[in-house]
Amino acid sequence: MKIILLGAPGAGKGTLAESLCRQLDIPTISTGNIIREALKSGTELGKMAKSYMDAGQLVPDEVVIGIIREKLADPVCEKGFILDGFPRTIAQAEALDKMGVEIDCVLSLEVDDDTIITRLSGRRVCIDCGAPYHVIYKKPKVENVCDNCSGTLVQRKDDHPDTIMERLKVYREQTEPLKDFYEKRGLLRTVAGQEKIEDTLRQALEVLVK
Ligand code: AMP
Repeated sequence: MKIILLGAPGAGKGTLAESLCRQLDIPTISTGNIIREALKSGTELGKMAKSYMDAGQLVPDEVVIGIIREKLADPVCEKGFILDGFPRTIAQAEALDKMGVEIDCVLSLEVDDDTIITRLSGRRVCIDCGAPYHVIYKKPKVENVCDNCSGTLVQRKDDHPDTIMERLKVYREQTEPLKDFYEKRGLLRTVAGQEKIEDTLRQALEVLVK
């Protein structure tokens, strides 16, 4: 099954993608994670993407399209995949079409803006393994220390309040039109992002089999 996950930053796409990937046994491709990895290892891609990412802007289409083209050519993607954070513009969706990718379902994860702002501004991530935490909803056992690898927890630069507002604006202007794009093809399904991931997952699985 070939699935696209749409949703505002902080809607919980990454968490849902992880659970779906275990349930359906297909890989997740997260452009945000790929770019953050590149940033950490100091590659050319990382250096180029940094200023866009830090400002809450989208990395240029041709760059992310190149990343996706390469990933989808991997044989592990043959039986299906979950795209988390791609496409984010109409041009990216059209590029997927040109690659001959036939998407089975587009899940749009819906969460209101207030919840998003609370989630993102309180989010912390492990500087080493990237595991996500939250200052209220998902505290580590020891303050500021990752439960998995003992790395230090930090706030992502793009989770600072001004950048959050910019990311939401970018989402509304550039990514949300994709809902219409896929609705017209009969592929769009909406899922309400719930407090508990198990509830969101259950709903996502229900709409996927419909
Ligand atoms: P995410 O973790 O999905 O919120 O992505 C973090 C950042 O990576 C975004 O704010 C963008 O700067 C960049 N990014 C991730 N995916 C894309 C994409 N499909 N197109 C452009 N920029 C992207």
